Amino acid sequence: MKILVIGRGGREHAIIWALKKSAKIKQIYCAPGNAGTAQLAENVDIGELEFARLVKFAQDSAIDLVVVGPDDPLAAGIVDEFEAASIPVYGPRKNAAEIEGSKIFMKDLLRKYDIPTAKYETFTDYEAAADYLKRQPLPIVIKADGLAAGKGVAVCFTREEADKALEETMVDKSFGAAGDKVVIEEFLEGQEMSILAFVDGETVRAMSPAQDHKQVFDNDKGPNTGGMGTYSPLPHIAQSIIDDSIENIIKPTARAMVSEGRPFRGVLFAGLMITKDGPKTIEFNARFGDPETQVVLPRLETDLLDIFLASINGTLDRVDIKWSNDVAVCVVLASGGYPGSYPKGFPIEGLNDVTTPGALVFHAGTALKDGQVVTNGGRVLGIVGMGAGIAEARANAYNAAEGITFQGKQNRTDIAAKALI
Ligand code: ATP
Repeated sequence: MKILVIGRGGREHAIIWALKKSAKIKQIYCAPGNAGTAQLAENVDIGELEFARLVKFAQDSAIDLVVVGPDDPLAAGIVDEFEAASIPVYGPRKNAAEIEGSKIFMKDLLRKYDIPTAKYETFTDYEAAADYLKRQPLPIVIKADGLAAGKGVAVCFTREEADKALEETMVDKSFGAAGDKVVIEEFLEGQEMSILAFVDGETVRAMSPAQDHKQVFDNDKGPNTGGMGTYSPLPHIAQSIIDDSIENIIKPTARAMVSEGRPFRGVLFAGLMITKDGPKTIEFNARFGDPETQVVLPRLETDLLDIFLASINGTLDRVDIKWSNDVAVCVVLASGGYPGSYPKGFPIEGLNDVTTPGALVFHAGTALKDGQVVTNGGRVLGIVGMGAGIAEARANAYNAAEGITFQGKQNRTDIAAKALI
């Protein structure tokens, strides 16, 4: 089979790495890809939102299956475009991807079907929002309705922060039209956990859970990022909490989407807060997480292609999905200055000298320049260490990460530290 993977991040590199294990695949293309995907697939110079060109490429190259990585093309209806051209495609249609594309849609769905989430109100009018905000206890969370690359959420501990966040979102339009509407929601206290699930309509096959580290600096300090590191599974979280999340949040949400006439097919990603009243939904994403994918897929023992094809054929309920008992830890190496502005184009050294057993190097913001791999984004690489436990996997990840250098390299040193029990 010939596969086209769409995207350019560490997630797509990890998806391609997992697909490569399938004996049924003859060729993988990645549009547009990065320097890492180029080692396993053929990169195609077409952007994720250039739908007409992507469809034409798929037709001309007789692609058997398209796999969509990022949120933007999903929210913009890329799956509908490929389906209209009768090309098999893995991912949710536009009307199902709205669960990520609109926080108001997601919150209203959960309220309607009584699925646990933070209490909230939604606003289109700034004055009304400001008036409501004044009367809420602190901390309080303000969210732009639409996609804002993870930056449209403000967790506010003071009145000043809250007023400023609302004004920036609704008046200054810092996130553009994504901030025309806002959600103001209750602050949830607890530990965060991500559960990704392969979903096809009402069939839900949860993956092994993962935990991200959003803030840029150690001890969860500094601004939020796309994610600085992950690990999976979560040995310090009781299985009953994981089961509760799957049974009372993910499965009812999949059923709700079917009831709303928007059946979800693809990866449904639940961002959860484990509160003292049990797990509650923070967000849903309509795709594999980045960098969660980098620690979840290396532990998958089932052929990923079989899972994708079964979803498309409506037979996901018949696939037995197996996970290894290994622990995976991913440490993100980022450009100096990220998540603010940062320079690009620095040579990356040591990529071919990683000798740590089982270490995996997933590229994110990298490019090839005159045969040399250079930095080309905020999050540059995800270094994954595998091990029998957290301590071993962490040591392997940090060991491998140490040997890779580029100007301005920064990484957290405490990924998975809280799971060292
Ligand atoms: P991303 O795309 O990066 O996953 P997002 O823009 O979809 O992020 P959310 O996941 O909704 O935004 O929120 C980002 C982060 O803000 C969460 O991971 C969590 O740490 C924090 N957060 C969001 N909502 C709440 C809440 N109600 N209570 C406490 N923290 C919250």
